[in-house]
Amino acid sequence: MSGRLSVVGLGPGDARYLTAEAVEALDAAHALYGYGPYLERVPERASQRRYASDNREERVRAAAALAHAAQGALVAVVSGGDPGVFAMAAAICEEIESGPESWRMLDVSIVPGITAMLAVAARIGAPLGHDFCALSLSDNLKPWHLIERRLDAAASAGFVIALYNPVSRARPWQFAAAIERLRRHLPPSTPVVFGRAVGRPDEQMDVVMLNAADATPADMATLVIVGSRETRVVDRPGRTPLVYTSRAVVEVSA
Ligand code: SAH
Repeated sequence: MSGRLSVVGLGPGDARYLTAEAVEALDAAHALYGYGPYLERVPERASQRRYASDNREERVRAAAALAHAAQGALVAVVSGGDPGVFAMAAAICEEIESGPESWRMLDVSIVPGITAMLAVAARIGAPLGHDFCALSLSDNLKPWHLIERRLDAAASAGFVIALYNPVSRARPWQFAAAIERLRRHLPPSTPVVFGRAVGRPDEQMDVVMLNAADATPADMATLVIVGSRETRVVDRPGRTPLVYTSRAVVEVSA
């Protein structure tokens, strides 16, 4: 029997964000692999085995899941959001590239999910309504000077910037440093959206200006969207404001 591996995006939290394809892949699996809190989101089935691992063990988890699938099992690896955005799909591809030849013969499917920046954007309006990019502030896998270079390039080129992994216990200062960097390129009134635990019961949305962004709390469950010169805030009495990025470009001198 030939094994199968699916890498399944669970979306940002609430089960309503699961796609029908993701539900099918989870139903079909003999074994589930993933970071513990993500596995807990998937309803238990008596016929399924679960292998929970720590968030930092992505390569080890990927190799274990591939080895299991190579034995003929139907294996699903779960990721929060989309598995291809700062998540397990790339770890699986890396292991296939460097692993035994037999892993290249496996039937591998990547099942997309709603990534955090899309869920946050939808809650507040349309901040990603025009050109944008996504950047992880984690310097676990890349040096900090490269992150700074990318922040400079993105902000000076006029992209809205979605910041994943803004803060963690091991990275307490990076977020404030990133905001300070962005202030070199963007006006102090640039809107910044903080979406925390979107799609979960403790969800929180905040909109501040860039000059106050480093004083606004962010944690590992927060996705930050830094606007561009085209991003506007529409205040609405008694309702949360709408934040959107206009499709009409403000000319910036080169
Ligand atoms: N694959 C995931 C991202 C993993 S990186 C995805 O596509 O969403 C982890 C980062 O994603 C977190 O530090 C945070 O910045 C963001 N994130 C994940 N889930 C979130 C949620 N429900 N609300 C806000 N941000 C979230």
